[in-house]
Amino acid sequence: MKRILVTGGAGFVGSHLCERLLNDGHEVICMDNYFTGRKSKILHLMDNPYFELIRHDVTMPYFIEVDEIYNLACPASPVHYQHNPIKTIKTSVLGAINMLGLAKRVGAKILQASTSEVYGDPELHPQPEHYWGHVNPIGIRSCYDEGKRCAESLFVNYHESNGVDVKIIRIFNTYGPKMEPDDGRVVSNFIMQALHGEDITIFGDGKQTRSFQYVSDLVEGMIQMMNTEDGFIGPVNIGNPVEFTMLELAENVIKLTKSKSKIIHLPLPADDPTQRQPDISLAFEKLNGWSPKIELKNGLVDTITYFDQLIKNEIQV
Ligand code: NAD
Ligand code: UDP
Repeated sequence: MKRILVTGGAGFVGSHLCERLLNDGHEVICMDNYFTGRKSKILHLMDNPYFELIRHDVTMPYFIEVDEIYNLACPASPVHYQHNPIKTIKTSVLGAINMLGLAKRVGAKILQASTSEVYGDPELHPQPEHYWGHVNPIGIRSCYDEGKRCAESLFVNYHESNGVDVKIIRIFNTYGPKMEPDDGRVVSNFIMQALHGEDITIFGDGKQTRSFQYVSDLVEGMIQMMNTEDGFIGPVNIGNPVEFTMLELAENVIKLTKSKSKIIHLPLPADDPTQRQPDISLAFEKLNGWSPKIELKNGLVDTITYFDQLIKNEIQV
């Protein structure tokens, strides 16, 4: 049994990760400031004596004896991370410094939830880890993109200079149950709109692509990466390489929900990446043959069921 700290543990991905780590027999400390997370996502874990919940902001130092740290604290939806861009940068950068300092002090292994956004609007397709990216350093997405890029630099430098055992994963668009219905990301937006019979809002012409990963595939990849033993620190892409346009996603959602919603087009936000697809050959090689298992259609069905139950008040977020 390991004692594991999950920052951002009350968020979408973090709540799934906490549950999986507890099921694997570990002690889990979930730290969150509830900016985009909620207690209700982890309420079902509260009775477990090996689960602890701490309200804390990762931009402030925190001291605890742990074996491993998964650093997830950071809003991930463009709507949320652009709400207070300076806070987003502080969360990524000061959060990384605080958690790396903690890892150094207690000798913990630490994994950073980085992002495909470090590739910006990529000119190389699909994106391998050696691609340096194409990021606008002063655009509306820069608080997130550059914050995460700086965090990667901090992770590598704490490893090089201080011998901290670090792991960096670059997560590509992930979806699933426990996303917030008003999160602003495309999968939750389209499903909620379809279930309510409202217009499906495609930004731009809808020809931009994303590659959608179901949350259980991500959690498996995170754990595999944390457990690598051969000094491999990454960064490594964790995503589903099957690529869709936003038009295709909307059509899939309409079909699966049997919705009468119509597609409408709204202006494309600035710096919205035109294409995104992970090259996952490194993950396959280094993470025991890891590759995503859940096809978009199956993952969407589960996610639609979740949002449908939320709307009918059969479950809480
Ligand atoms: P989320 O917004 O649901 O979860 C983030 C969690 O971090 C929330 O619980 C939030 O309250 C918490 N948080 C935010 N700022 C904090 C702070 N200062 N101190 C403590 N807690 C704080 O997002 P998510 O989709 O679960 O993403 C989790 C992590 O994975 C993030 O770091 C994100 O950048 C990364 N990621 C996610 C995706 C994706 O598609 N879901 C893609 C790439 C990277
Ligand atoms: N998008 C859209 N309609 C929406 C929300 C998002 O067409 O209601 C588009 C958005 O412009 C982007 C893609 O869907 O091209 C993915 O957006 P999301 O915010 O989910 O993630 P990110 O842009 O960070 O990959």
